[in-house]
Amino acid sequence: MRKNIVAGNWKMNKNLQEGIAFVEELQVALSNVDKINCDVVVGTPFIHLANVSAAINTGLIGVAAQNCADKESGAYTGEVSAAMVASTGAKYVILGHSERRQYYGETDAKLKEKTLLALANGLTPIFCIGEVLEEREAGKQNEVVKAQIENALFNLSAEEFSKIVLAYEPVWAIGTGKTATPEQAQEMHAYIRKTLAEKYGKEVADNTSILYGGSANAANAKELFSNPDVDGGLIGGASLKVETFLPIVQAF
Ligand code: PEP
Repeated sequence: MRKNIVAGNWKMNKNLQEGIAFVEELQVALSNVDKINCDVVVGTPFIHLANVSAAINTGLIGVAAQNCADKESGAYTGEVSAAMVASTGAKYVILGHSERRQYYGETDAKLKEKTLLALANGLTPIFCIGEVLEEREAGKQNEVVKAQIENALFNLSAEEFSKIVLAYEPVWAIGTGKTATPEQAQEMHAYIRKTLAEKYGKEVADNTSILYGGSANAANAKELFSNPDVDGGLIGGASLKVETFLPIVQAF
């Protein structure tokens, strides 16, 4: 069975001390919750990964990097490899976030390499896909999302693909306060699952967690997560404070 996951993406926010304080506070809060019905992940800047991982002693929170290099190792100044990420204790890596695609020129070809390296190093990719506003307005969202998946992931074997978590993030909804309606999210998630089933079969498709991202918050999470094909959320702004993140975790 696929997992429900609520993953925060801090982006370029929080210094080291703030990051550690956040996970310490979140751990205490989670230990006071009767039953947690999803995996909880925090996506921190690279430089916080080791300390944040070390600050988690309950197993209640997984740690994600927000990116990794498309090369294994070597003379790539400023880059951080998947092996380095894994060596910090992080278990996940967010790949293909629209901000990486938009501001740092990440192409499907690069993301294909990053995904292979993440998997080779035992990391779970949280692989982001989603259309921009003009594409949605032109009714092209399905073909855009399908191409992103096909170009970066469909080289994987079914066994490899079964280690991927997808995050559908309509770019027009990220950080804009504009959320996809629960119907729009469900429609796209069902389409993605159908696309996976055509390539890898029903079992792999049914076992793939597909998260929604885009201005999800405590007020809309329950309704979004109640859709049969929405298996959780990738949360930006609302993941920066425990008081706004915890209610999203509790929406499951
Ligand atoms: C994100 O960046 O992945 C995201 C979903 O951001 P926000 O929740 O702020 O829209």
